[in-house]
Order: sequence, then structure tokens, then C-alpha cells
Amino acid sequence: MTKSVDHLIRENIKKLIPYSSARSEYKQAEGIFLDANENPYGKYNRYPDPFQLKLKDKLAKVKNIRPEQIFLTNGSDGIVDITYRVFCEPGVDKALTFPPTFAMYTVASHLNNVELITVPLDENFQIDRPALEKHIDDEKLKVIFLCSPNNPTGNHLKREDIDYILENFKGITVIDEAYIDFNNRISYAQKLDKYPRLVVLQTLSKSWALAGARIGMALMSKTLVSYFNKIKTPYNVSSIDQQVAMDALSDQEIFQERMITILSEKNRVLESLKSSPLIKKIYPSDTNFLLVEVEDGEDFYLKLLQHNIIVRNQNKTIKNALRITIGKPEENDKLLQVLSKIENSASIVSQ
Ligand code: PMP
Repeated sequence: MTKSVDHLIRENIKKLIPYSSARSEYKQAEGIFLDANENPYGKYNRYPDPFQLKLKDKLAKVKNIRPEQIFLTNGSDGIVDITYRVFCEPGVDKALTFPPTFAMYTVASHLNNVELITVPLDENFQIDRPALEKHIDDEKLKVIFLCSPNNPTGNHLKREDIDYILENFKGITVIDEAYIDFNNRISYAQKLDKYPRLVVLQTLSKSWALAGARIGMALMSKTLVSYFNKIKTPYNVSSIDQQVAMDALSDQEIFQERMITILSEKNRVLESLKSSPLIKKIYPSDTNFLLVEVEDGEDFYLKLLQHNIIVRNQNKTIKNALRITIGKPEENDKLLQVLSKIENSASIVSQ
């Protein structure tokens, strides 16, 4: 199998001469910096490291990969957009995804004028292999986006199906692992050396509790990183965000503590929901959220809202489904109290 990915890159990206920032032209830490038209005063007066090298060193250790296999930008949803721009010629190439899934794959396909083939997940929210096989050899198909564990369904996709894609698809496979840390599955980032056309998306927004800092990661070959670097904006992660991320990654203890709490709370909420007559079904979850089915999704969503509990109404994509993120213990207590209130008022009405 050829290791080269160059034929998959859009011609204009291959030819592009990227903007060369002051901080990428002169990298020493010491000196009198009169090169970037910065203001010499203030705390945040200097441009950040354009390639976030210290942060990547730390991340590489945590993720057990090499720093040069990491591309960072402000949120992994931003990386979905960049992925289209690197590989898909607008109006010509295609991408493929498996709904119901994270909506950004679709939004970014529209934004980039790239046709998106949809292969709906089967009744167990797994990949429909025969339906996928019809498309996998399409020469215009450049990128397959899959999300495992999947949002909003919560389950992981079967490894044998993901491996089938990695072994047979000639384009780029993007595996979005935003929720990977909430279960004990091994990340596909450990297979980067085997699969040169693999892009693994991860984020500090979920398990690392840094959604406000906007740090998304694409883990991939050094060659792919170099193409993504070409089209990013020059200083795409602020110095504040880089520092916040470095601090968080240095505190593994609090990460572990929070993880244990969230997972045990998830079990507690799950057990409670199982005994609630209002909940018709709870889908298996490898994430920090539970997808549940109720009798009337729209009505239930509004009832929770009346009690100031905001869940995600998934009714448009999965009939009568609500996605409930696991909160702090006291927030989950409140959710469960409100559920029993709704239960009681429903039983009074039906009496
Ligand atoms: N991928 C998935 C599957 C998600 O659910 C989300 C956010 N909900 C993202 C990516 C985006 O994460 P962020 O932009 O915060 O890194």
C-alpha cells in the first residue's frame, strides 16, 4: 500500500504559499522584539506560538503519540471545516457520513459546497455495511467522517466496521473521538503509523473540561499535519487558551477525580431513569451523556425547561429522543427530582 497522501490533497492547497508570520520566521524566545507590530505594553501584548509547540509536547505524552502528529486549532468543529478545505474540491468531490451523528459534518459540507453522501446507521446505530459498500469505491469520495463514540446516539461503532473502512477506503478516514476518554477503548490514534490516511479528531472540551478554551486536535501523520498547517490562520490558538490547556494537562489528578465522579453519576442517573415510567428506552452510552426515548419528546423537553432543566431535544433526528448530559451530583439530583415531579403530575392526570 502506498504511503503517499499527496494525490488526495487539492491542487490549490499543494501550490499554496502559506502566510509566514513574524513568530514563525524568528523563533527564539529572547530578544528585543520589534518585528510583529505588537504593542510593547500589557500582559497579552505578544502573539502566541503559531504552532503551539509546548502544548503539543504535553499532549503527545498524554496521548502516547509524537508531537509532530498533532494539529491544533480553536475547537475540533473548526478542524472539520479545514478537513473539507484540504481534501475536497468544491462542486466536484464528495464526503460521506453516517447519520444520526454530529451535525458539523453536514454543515461544513454545505459551507464548502461538497456533496455529502449519507449512509444512515442501522437500528442498533451501527454502520450499515452493504449500504456503505455501494459507495466505498466512488472515485470522487474523498473523506469519510465517522464518530465513535457517536453523538448523539452515545454508542461506539464496531471496531470491525471501522477497520473495514481503514483497510478498504482509498481516501481519508476521519474518526471523531470527542468522547473517547469516557470509556476504556483504545484510541485509533495508536494506529496512526499503520494508516497514513487516518485523521483522529479529539478535543479538550469534554473529558478535560475546557469547552471554553477551544482546543481541538487532529491527530494524524506528519505529512497531513503540514498540509493542515498551511491553511490555518497564523495565530489560531490564543496564548491564554494555550496556557489554560497546559495547566489542565499538568493536573492529571483532578482529571481522574472528575472522570470517576462523572462516570459514577452516569450510573446513578441511569439506574434512576431505568425505574422511571416516563422513560421508554435508554440507549447504551460510552460517553458523558445518555440518550433516552420518551412518549412525547417535544412535550417532555418543554416540561423540563419549565423547571429550568435544559437537555438537548433530538426529536428532529431521532423520534422522541432527548440527550441528557451528566452534570454535577447536585444538578443530577435536581434532574431526578424534577422527573419524579413530572411523573407524579402525570399519574394524577391519568387517575
Ligand atoms: N465532535 C463531536 C462528536 C462533538 O460532539 C463535538 C461537540 N459537541 C465536537 C466534535 C466539537 O468539539 P469542540 O469544537 O468543542 O472541540
